[in-house]
Amino acid sequence: MAVPAQEPTHCDVAIVGAGAAGLATAIFVRRLNPGASVHLFDSAKAPGAKILVSGGSRCNVTNVSVSDADFWGGPRAIVRRVLRAFPVPDTVAFFRGIGVHLHEEADGKLFPDTNRARDVLAALLAELSKVGAVLHAADRVQAIERADHGPFRLTRTAGEVQANRVVLATGGQSLPKTGSDGFGFEMARRLGHTIVPTTPGLVPLLLENGAGEDLHRELTGVAQPVELFVWIENRVAVRLQGPLLWTHFGVSGPVALNASRHWLRAQLERRACRISVSFCPGESFDGVDARLTEMAASRPKASVQNALATIVPAAVASALARRLGIEPPTDLAHFPRDDRRRLVHALTGWPLAVAGSRGYDYAEVTAGGVPLTEITPSTLESRVCPGLFLVGEILDIDGRIGGFNFQWAWSSAQVAANALARRTGQ
Ligand SMILES: Cc1cc2nc3c(=O)[nH]c(=O)nc-3n(C[C@H](O)[C@H](O)[C@H](O)COP(=O)(O)OP(=O)(O)OC[C@H]3O[C@@H](n4cnc5c(N)ncnc54)[C@H](O)[C@@H]3O)c2cc1C
Repeated sequence: MAVPAQEPTHCDVAIVGAGAAGLATAIFVRRLNPGASVHLFDSAKAPGAKILVSGGSRCNVTNVSVSDADFWGGPRAIVRRVLRAFPVPDTVAFFRGIGVHLHEEADGKLFPDTNRARDVLAALLAELSKVGAVLHAADRVQAIERADHGPFRLTRTAGEVQANRVVLATGGQSLPKTGSDGFGFEMARRLGHTIVPTTPGLVPLLLENGAGEDLHRELTGVAQPVELFVWIENRVAVRLQGPLLWTHFGVSGPVALNASRHWLRAQLERRACRISVSFCPGESFDGVDARLTEMAASRPKASVQNALATIVPAAVASALARRLGIEPPTDLAHFPRDDRRRLVHALTGWPLAVAGSRGYDYAEVTAGGVPLTEITPSTLESRVCPGLFLVGEILDIDGRIGGFNFQWAWSSAQVAANALARRTGQ
């Protein structure tokens, strides 16, 4: 890691935050313009903590297929433009170039061949040092000011520094112990930006406890493929398929994490929201009803519970049957039509009584942030504070689970770096 030989008094580019987006921005600027003096300041003693914990400490660096449809938040057209400027093949080539070879896993996720997030961080830090950007760890930026159109003045733990251009790469508020505590939003606000109100994203959901609501307690540890329906004002606003994990507090797993931001934002906007789960993903009520009817014809002596266990995990089958008052010995031949339809309703639209989320301490991302409409899409320069650039999660954009959030970090870093490298020295 490049260690500051002495405290700088002035630099061309000051990057606040040395997470994925800040590190990549610094590397890209120096590669494009080795004459630019680039300093990164991070409050953490050991920056890059979020890279280390990502993807179960394996770091899901990106995904084979990334498009604007994988993101929520700001306008799709802007997201598309940023992603196109540094698409997935460029990310793969960049990492290969710094010694991190990626391989594909389920759902197109790309991980380092070594399966170690620490190798990803080590490679980024080694490259940072190689290109000559300077990292100042344990050096929190407390204020950024600018008088007229002169240089920015940054007040840091280790003193003051002036910079011609500043990059805010402070992330959001998720996992605040890593250093991303939301103060970046406050600095952006002080520099003239508005902030789209924030909520946790990609966070496990808490379910209510109580009579009839405690399926999660009984099924703790069970994982199953499902489809989630997020109803906003009585209309299905979002449908998501994927694995659901029942836990002692509620639900987790990719599909629940992806649904969380929709439920939380509806609460923020005071819109009526509920979530229902289908245990038969992609199937309609009539389809599941027909399946059970066919089973009754072909295996009339099979118990309802056994029939159910061909559709859902056995634990889920017995939990549902008990809640619906279906006595286990009932065989399909004697299963009344009304009960069958009640069962199909339960299988395709079981209500999840969401009571909240586990909050920022357990969230992988932050939804909300600096609006994309307040930055120039081709440069990621602020429209309200020229000379200020914003990259990564501080912006109002959040990806679904699967490597999309890091791809946003790499792509936004490259867009800002192109502009910074061009401007520096002018
Ligand atoms: C548990 C977990 C697992 C994840 N797994 C994945 C995954 O596998 N794939 C994926 O794509 N995404 C994953 N994510 C999301 C991904 O980590 C983030 O989207 C990404 O790290 C955001 O990068 P960033 O550089 O914008 O912000 P951050 O990584 O949050 O970095 C911001 C940096 O700014 C510093 N900082 C903040 N304020 C200041 C200040 N005032 N002064 C100085 N420094 C400051 C912080 O210390 C921090 O180092 C995961 C997130 C979590 C929490």
